[in-house]
Amino acid sequence: MSVTQQQVLDSLARIKSPRGVALTNANVLSEITASDGKVFFSINVEAAEARAWESVRAEAEAAVRAIPGVTTVMVALTAERKPGSAPPPPTPSRGTPGVQPAHAHKPPQGGGSPMARQSEIPGVGAVIAVASGKGGVGKSTTALNLALGLRDLGLKVGLLDADIYGPSVPRLTGLRDKPELNDERKMIPLRRFGLAIMSIGFLVEEETAMIWRGPMVMSAVTQMLRDVQWGTLDVLVVDMPPGTGDAQLTLAQNVPLKGAVIISTPQDLSLIDARRGLAMFKKVNVPVLGIVENMSYFQCPHCGTKSDIFGHGGARHEAEKLGVPFLGEIPLHMAIRATSDAGNPVVDSEPDGPHAAIYRAIAGQVRDQLKGIIAAA
Ligand code: ADP
Repeated sequence: MSVTQQQVLDSLARIKSPRGVALTNANVLSEITASDGKVFFSINVEAAEARAWESVRAEAEAAVRAIPGVTTVMVALTAERKPGSAPPPPTPSRGTPGVQPAHAHKPPQGGGSPMARQSEIPGVGAVIAVASGKGGVGKSTTALNLALGLRDLGLKVGLLDADIYGPSVPRLTGLRDKPELNDERKMIPLRRFGLAIMSIGFLVEEETAMIWRGPMVMSAVTQMLRDVQWGTLDVLVVDMPPGTGDAQLTLAQNVPLKGAVIISTPQDLSLIDARRGLAMFKKVNVPVLGIVENMSYFQCPHCGTKSDIFGHGGARHEAEKLGVPFLGEIPLHMAIRATSDAGNPVVDSEPDGPHAAIYRAIAGQVRDQLKGIIAAA
């Protein structure tokens, strides 16, 4: 038996908050994720009030657990706003954009296939995910350079850094500003290198980002997708949080993805993780556009000699075995690391170099697979 958001809301409406009103009217709930008997959400309160809310959190968890069909329930109590600040309005207030609980969003409509529940983003042709089974494999570096490669092919491209646990797009792009709001109170993405760019890192401090948990990840990413004035884009590249846990699965399920690119290093462990990534996207019916092997071989910055320090080629082999496209090999090279970490990604700063050519070739394959969708949009 599947549990609906409405059932969860009905059970929460019977719980009284320390503010004297029903929990559902206290303006503290994040978006509620209810899928396959698993229910996740968070209660977002001011730090000074947190102690008073702990019993409410436990009560809410018990109430949801009692709904027939619920198998797992996680209710997080998050206290991220400064003491004394007002509870958030349903949309960001002018001049001080921030990520708010997404209870203002309509619950996803429809049922059955997870894909049926996602609505398209107006003006955006194809949303694609760049994912990895674990952190540190160069997912964000690849996502940005892939976005730039797509730009070089003449496409209008956006980049959404949804890596809530460690947003690196501010570092990779050198962007630090807070996005402004337009008249409809939507956030205006920052622009750099010809890309429309949005990152959770523009809104919260990096340390805050580290403590985000599943339900908050969802509401933050939903907001970054829907409450941002993306304009007209052919492709929106989403830099996903690393890993294949519940948060990633829920995200993959709720973002209207047209495809996913999986980044792996040649090491075995990372390939096992990549396989999990493939399985995850398969589960939510998102086509895997292919696997990229990053840090594929070491290329000496002085003499150009290639060394297969990690036993290169594993990802190509794996892709063949699994029947998904192999998109290319990116060397482990000082120039890629140095340009990334200096906020000047290599495709933009060394457009005629060999690395830019590799990223553009990968982008070309991605573009070819999305051609029909982009043309239709
Ligand atoms: P992830 O998003 O998977 O955590 P990042 O993109 O932040 O990984 O990359 C981790 C580190 O590895 C960064 O310092 C980045 O500059 C570096 N890096 C990524 N890809 C390469 C590469 N092909 N060659 C050299 N350094 C790389």
